[in-house]
Amino acid sequence: MNITSPREITQLLSEYHLSPLKKFGQNFLCDENIVQKIVDSIGLTPDRCVLEIGTGLGALTRALSVRAKKVVSVEIDRGLLALHGKTLAGLPNVTVLEGDILKYDLKGLCADYFGGSPFHVCGNLPYYITSKILMQVLESGAPVRSITAMVQKEVAQRLSARPGDTDYGALTASCLYFSQPETLFTVSRNCFYPAPDVDSAIIRMELSRPACGVARSDYTAVIRAAFSMRRKTIYNNLKPLAGSNAKFILESCKIDPNARAQELSPSQFCDIAKLIFQKL
Ligand code: SAM
Repeated sequence: MNITSPREITQLLSEYHLSPLKKFGQNFLCDENIVQKIVDSIGLTPDRCVLEIGTGLGALTRALSVRAKKVVSVEIDRGLLALHGKTLAGLPNVTVLEGDILKYDLKGLCADYFGGSPFHVCGNLPYYITSKILMQVLESGAPVRSITAMVQKEVAQRLSARPGDTDYGALTASCLYFSQPETLFTVSRNCFYPAPDVDSAIIRMELSRPACGVARSDYTAVIRAAFSMRRKTIYNNLKPLAGSNAKFILESCKIDPNARAQELSPSQFCDIAKLIFQKL
């Protein structure tokens, strides 16, 4: 069967008395070329494992299973699990886990299913929790090689933004600690069933880049404080974290206390984190 044909998707869903659930961001890919392009972008080899986020009907899962050693796919909607007996039949290297990805311990999942080996993350992400999922994967401490994900076009723009751009914010600055996100290509809303109200893009992050020399939690604490009030100066936003040392720290880092967080680069946030957490 062809689960990227809108006609077959509707038939399949009605056979199982299901309909796409908006609350879970269910917009299923119905363009086989896009499915193949996504899988091509990951750089899989037959010895690599993949974690897929959001199985849906299994369109990406099937394509991944052809290229990867093992695919673990997490799906929150129990209703869809019944039809995987049909759409994912005969794929011994695929395991579908029911549940909310945000509740999974990814290090534990990696140990249980991939023998602790580094793995790729892939998914046509549910848009209502895209940022949370990205942050969860990045901060999990699991050995993730890369993330290749379908996100809303606006989120892709935010991820590709650089200091000084209007789209540059806490999510961008956090991601830049781990990786240099790239937008690979855009995807029209017409490639989904049902069509969402927005266009999408595929982003990719290679996670091999070394971290900037401060603990991830220290960097994250600085980012959260710095972007807590977008209109406030970096000095005012840092005061709750750095106390009376805030001004001294900014001056030592040669950062104008009147600057806004969105003007600072990841390496400047690292400098601030070093001084706050080493000196206080
Ligand atoms: N991969 C499929 C495709 O490309 O056609 C489905 C993509 S659809 C945009 C997102 C999928 O993520 C849906 O199947 C939805 O039920 C699932 N999902 C939503 N929230 C989730 C969560 N918190 N944890 C795991 N899966 C979730």
